[in-house]
Amino acid sequence: MAELIEPLCVSALNTLAPRASGQVFLRVMQDALFGVQGGSRLLLPKVDLSELFPGAAARWLSRQGGQLRLGTRVTALVPAGLQWQIQGEAFDAVILATSASESSRALDNSAQAAPDSIANKLQQWGCITRALQYEAIATVYAFGADVTLPRPMLTLRSSAAMPAQFAFDRGQLGGPGGLLAFVVSASTLARDALQTQVLAQAQQQLGLNLQAVQTIVEKRATFACTPGLQRPALQIAPGLLACGDYVAGPYPATLEGAVRSAVAAVAALTMHPQTV
Ligand SMILES: Cc1cc2nc3c(=O)[nH]c(=O)nc-3n(C[C@H](O)[C@H](O)[C@H](O)COP(=O)(O)OP(=O)(O)OC[C@H]3O[C@@H](n4cnc5c(N)ncnc54)[C@H](O)[C@@H]3O)c2cc1C
Repeated sequence: MAELIEPLCVSALNTLAPRASGQVFLRVMQDALFGVQGGSRLLLPKVDLSELFPGAAARWLSRQGGQLRLGTRVTALVPAGLQWQIQGEAFDAVILATSASESSRALDNSAQAAPDSIANKLQQWGCITRALQYEAIATVYAFGADVTLPRPMLTLRSSAAMPAQFAFDRGQLGGPGGLLAFVVSASTLARDALQTQVLAQAQQQLGLNLQAVQTIVEKRATFACTPGLQRPALQIAPGLLACGDYVAGPYPATLEGAVRSAVAAVAALTMHPQTV
């Protein structure tokens, strides 16, 4: 458990094994170990994450003639007959791809202007979405002159007093030399206490005397992937779909789960437009 199952579970589900969904964990393990060839390979990007995926996706979309409107916040969707209006512009169908909390906030605003039959659907969907609980992920960035790890990524032995599960050597991954990133999944500690513990852990487990650079705690990094969790459906109302890592599906809150959800939403729109 301590050497294999617990580290895999917390890194895949961002939920500690004792309270994690066994069903979701087994699905991830099945796909990683017995799915497509190469499914269990660990891929570490050497470019920053914006460039790795969103940048490439944006360029692809522009080449297909798609329009990107960056920095444009959607605050409400207004039903208008068979269409939906966003900021005064009408669309035949909308896929809402924002986070769970942002999506339910936008739908709360929408429900006020919607006829009862639509408003009820928006409220029901919002109710399930707002019930999701969250887990944090913390990243402690620390620096040591001339420090390099034996590999770009190391698994650490974590415990309550030594909270980091993984250490990344940014210098070997396209970042500045000497900069290490310690990742604490399912983190519960306050920022300062966590930073102190992680620096002590680096000293004790890696023999490194590091200086803290920055600690980022994402409080709502992922939904808590617990047993029997009810997740909101892909379809919100006629012509309005949701996609994202939190939408009902077999995966935990991961990039893979988000992509699968988006593929399912696009397939529902293009293959069965009459039923959505
Ligand atoms: C620190 C951290 C580490 C992680 N590590 C991993 C990992 O190693 N592997 C992995 O698979 N997953 C990891 N995850 C989880 C992964 O990032 C998420 O599962 C994934 O990004 C979810 O994608 P999404 O498209 O559902 O939502 P998001 O990536 O949250 O995208 C939602 C988008 O909607 C935009 N938006 C929000 N509100 C509005 C609005 N009102 N109008 C218009 N746009 C809006 C946002 O700007 C954002 O671009 C990590 C998450 C965190 C926080």
